[in-house]
Amino acid sequence: MSLLDRHRAVMPGWMPVYYGDDALEIVSGSGRRVTDARGRSYLDFFGGVLTNMIGYDIAEVSDAVRRQIDTGVAHTSTLYLIRQQIELAEKIARVSGIPDARVFFTNSGSEANESALLFACNVRRSNQILAIKNGYHGRTFATMAITGHRSWSSSSLTPLTVNWLSSADRLRGRMAGLSDGDLLDAAVDDLREVLATVTAGDVAALIAEPIQGVGGFVHGPDGLLGAYRKVLAEHGILLIADEVQTGWGRTGEHFWGYQAHGVTPDLITFAKGIGNGFALGGVVGRAEVMNAVPAISFSTFGGNPVSAAAGNAVLDYVLDHDLQGNAKRVGEILLGGLRSLPATILAEVRGRGLMIGLEFVRPGTTEPDPATTVRVFDLCREGGLLVGKGGLYGNVLRLGPALTLTEEEAREGLAILTDSIATADAEAR
Ligand code: PLP
Repeated sequence: MSLLDRHRAVMPGWMPVYYGDDALEIVSGSGRRVTDARGRSYLDFFGGVLTNMIGYDIAEVSDAVRRQIDTGVAHTSTLYLIRQQIELAEKIARVSGIPDARVFFTNSGSEANESALLFACNVRRSNQILAIKNGYHGRTFATMAITGHRSWSSSSLTPLTVNWLSSADRLRGRMAGLSDGDLLDAAVDDLREVLATVTAGDVAALIAEPIQGVGGFVHGPDGLLGAYRKVLAEHGILLIADEVQTGWGRTGEHFWGYQAHGVTPDLITFAKGIGNGFALGGVVGRAEVMNAVPAISFSTFGGNPVSAAAGNAVLDYVLDHDLQGNAKRVGEILLGGLRSLPATILAEVRGRGLMIGLEFVRPGTTEPDPATTVRVFDLCREGGLLVGKGGLYGNVLRLGPALTLTEEEAREGLAILTDSIATADAEAR
């Protein structure tokens, strides 16, 4: 039986294996490259969904983790002091941009968002949340309830009252003849209307990804979260930035995605890249919100010594090597190259730093084309390049390589993308 058949026999039916009936089994990695069980090497432009943030087999991380394992203490418990965890919390609080910040560690992004909701709902004594259409926040009961994708969310069963705001998608706005300024104004009007019509203003928080990840790297106009914040502040509503995909310099211009919006959130959630593959997530936020849970609360494995050792090594590496600067520089090469492609099937190449989305449409139309997207994806893989898929209509290719991507690797990937898009373009006409 193939490994895929064994997966199907033993895992729940809803558990997705995205990448087809010949899904790869990745067995090793080095730098920005991975090797599959058949011995084929690929340049990885998706990093296991932006999780492999600084590359594979990075000595500084492996050594830090090994050193921790060698102590014999992979995990003690929440009853004892964990030096690695406290040091990591100090660093994260420092880089968060939030004054007097507190950090709570979890094992995943879902748990991080679940915790942020818990803190926000408790401090506001409300279980009403504003979420953004097309957003993705995780796979727990509450985080699915605030996920604005039908295929990823848990139907109408929800522990929260959720009201939805538009994703202010700039491409769809442009297609409808709206400028960024129009979109921003419309989004803020929409927020005011939602607050006035379907809530009593007693909402706990608005949660937003500064750039929607699973949603296809869609983002609203710069400054939107700041404009929302002014309205939210009139009601005391908190702002949660889900930086699970956008944090740690990924977007090049800024260390956090929220910084494109002229606002500092009350809570930031993080996961994925900070562990570079080791299970680590958390919330960093204002002390008065983080302290609001009226019960003793802990996470047995959240911030365990091994994951925290990885997190410390990863964050040091990001800062010591100015990976934010690298993301900006190398991202510009990729964006420039992709934007110069003459493809009629490309509605938009968008992105920031090393978070780049390519949205595909039927030639000469604005109609989303998931089939062509899959075709480009397959051609890339055949050419030795791994990329991601996504978007509300399944018509976005997502590039989220490790922030250590070199210029040469960017050009190598660009050449494969260029050929793949040209082939798919010719076939689609
Ligand atoms: N938030 C965002 C923006 C994500 O992209 C994800 C995962 O893709 C999550 C939350 C959930 O994180 P996890 O899969 O670690 O639970």
